[in-house]
Amino acid sequence: MEGRRVVGWAARDASGLLSPYSFTLRKTGPEDVVIKVLYRGMDHTDLHQMRNEVHSTNYPLVPGHEVVGEVVELGSEVKKYRVGDMVGVGCIVGSCGRCLSCNSNTEQYCNNRIFTYNGIYKDGRPTQGGFCSAMIVHQKFVVRIPEKLSPEQAAPLLCAGVTAYSPLRQFMGSGKVLNAGILGLGGVGHLGVKIAKAMGHHVTVISSSDKKREEALQHLGADAFLVSSNAAEMEEAANNLDYILDTVPALHPLQSHLSLLKVDGKLFLVGVSPKPLQFDATDLILGKKNITGSFIGSMEETQEILDFWAEKNLTSMIEIVKMDYVNKAFERMERSDVRYRFVVDVAGSNLE
Ligand code: NAP
Ligand code: ZN
Repeated sequence: MEGRRVVGWAARDASGLLSPYSFTLRKTGPEDVVIKVLYRGMDHTDLHQMRNEVHSTNYPLVPGHEVVGEVVELGSEVKKYRVGDMVGVGCIVGSCGRCLSCNSNTEQYCNNRIFTYNGIYKDGRPTQGGFCSAMIVHQKFVVRIPEKLSPEQAAPLLCAGVTAYSPLRQFMGSGKVLNAGILGLGGVGHLGVKIAKAMGHHVTVISSSDKKREEALQHLGADAFLVSSNAAEMEEAANNLDYILDTVPALHPLQSHLSLLKVDGKLFLVGVSPKPLQFDATDLILGKKNITGSFIGSMEETQEILDFWAEKNLTSMIEIVKMDYVNKAFERMERSDVRYRFVVDVAGSNLE
């Protein structure tokens, strides 16, 4: 039997432009949750993938992780959720379930993880994301949205939020006031500021221009602001940070940022540069500095950041748009002209 027919918006080629696209979901399996999509956040990774900038993209591509929706149907073996529950889906919808990563609740690092879109599902069909009226997802890759959070507020946490949270989580409860750097104030970066502040860190935003200074300091609660192209300002701030969360989605020099770190400081790379990044060996050696990557977070961490957000009464700064605005919204994202995450009101949009 064929699954349900849905309408999404797909990119057809490397121009990345999205337009309506109708396709069929798989038949609901025993452990599947059928979700009516309400909201979805727009991530820079969508743009990388729509334009074939990082992995090889299979078109038509319906992008969209950071999906929040309502459960409308359940497979026979799903006990954890009920029809009507508010749930979320992030960047992966499957993994092998047997490897070291899967057995240690870090399934995002499973070599056989299945991406929410631009992946191949276990049935051999391409996965399609949440830019769409409905999704079917295995219960293991679904999280619960806390009642205190509105669905549109929860959406950016499912990728951007957990991406910032996962590398910073190791510092929770240390009791130390760490000096944090957030490099690039976009979707991931602004949530990074909020999370680091909620952990009690002293937060410095490092931005490519002066434009976001006032907002960062006055609205997001950052303690300091640096413009990365201002050599004098950067030099004055050297050797001071315990870590930097690097969210820049483009080629950028690392040397000046590494110089901001203390001895043994860590640079967490989460932004995806489409071109190889460079650094001098001595930039690391002479200060025992570390560069490390981090990919989203586990399902457990995704639930944790949602609960943490609700418990601390945090809010993300979002701009809600309808589906017919998405091409324009991605164009604005590319110019860093978004404060700080676009969230699409999918259920309130005409998808046809
Ligand atoms: P975004 O909203 O576009 O924000 C990126 C920010 O980086 C911009 O607001 C801008 O901040 C700065 N920036 C942009 N272009 C730059 C350039 N050419 N040079 C220097 N700075 C620049 O993007 P996002 O959604 O936060 O995603 C950021 C990156 O993280 C993307 O590459 C995305 O693919 C990646 N990502 C990775 C993971 C993971 O698991 N590792 C998860 C989610 C996203 P300023 O105006 O402050 O300079
Ligand atoms: Zn695995």
